[in-house]
Amino acid sequence: MIELKNIVKTYRTGDESLVALDDVTLSITDGEFTAIMGPSGSGKSTLMNILGLLDQFDSGTYFLNGVDVSKLSDNEGAHVRNKEVGFVFQSFNLMPRMTLLENVELPMIYAGIPAKERKKRALKALERVGLANRVKHKPNEISGGQKQRVAIARAIVNNPSVLMADEPTGNLDSKTAIGILRIFQELNVEGTTIVMVTHEPEVAIYTKRILSFFDGALKEDHSQIPEII
Ligand code: ADP
Ligand code: MG
Repeated sequence: MIELKNIVKTYRTGDESLVALDDVTLSITDGEFTAIMGPSGSGKSTLMNILGLLDQFDSGTYFLNGVDVSKLSDNEGAHVRNKEVGFVFQSFNLMPRMTLLENVELPMIYAGIPAKERKKRALKALERVGLANRVKHKPNEISGGQKQRVAIARAIVNNPSVLMADEPTGNLDSKTAIGILRIFQELNVEGTTIVMVTHEPEVAIYTKRILSFFDGALKEDHSQIPEII
């Protein structure tokens, strides 16, 4: 599903340049639940942004479901991103003035899905994460763990082929984090491919595979039997 070959990504600011990803080659197949690990600054978020078609790379190739993404126009890239990728961030990134239901409807508005269908699917997604009774609430009326559940509902509502999460439990206490990881495990069992950045080993034990980065390079690729929640 995800096929990266010799990816290099350099950030240029003024006359400084920094190699954030240094010749990264990896593949991730359907149904995996993979953790991206490594110290701060090792390139984890840069990798996620490239995988999620949020950022470009300098050289190498990236095939997503057989599509060479470097050949896509900005418009085509946005279309593929909206269709294939769901995103969850550490800081939830919900729209504060919108209700939870409206937040979850957003990606479907971009996808041009009619209002009635949007509402039905948003309700189902919120139900899926255990928030069916909060749909009219605003983000500031719910807890951090609940906000992350809304973000997950929003990320899965278009049935993406891959769910990407950058430190999704980084702002949550460990008990709340377990609840989020349980949802990820359930979604993975149901067939969703998940790529999750974490720097916490106690979070990575719930995944099937750990890719470890250091200084922008992939140092270790380790499969494991996940701890089941
Ligand atoms: P991680 O998520 O593992 O902490 P990042 O991918 O955010 O690492 O960053 C990798 C390296 O690239 C770091 O040295 C960081 O300072 C640098 N970097 C990240 N984003 C930018 C940017 N927009 N401009 C310049 N340098 C950046
Ligand atoms: Mg990061």
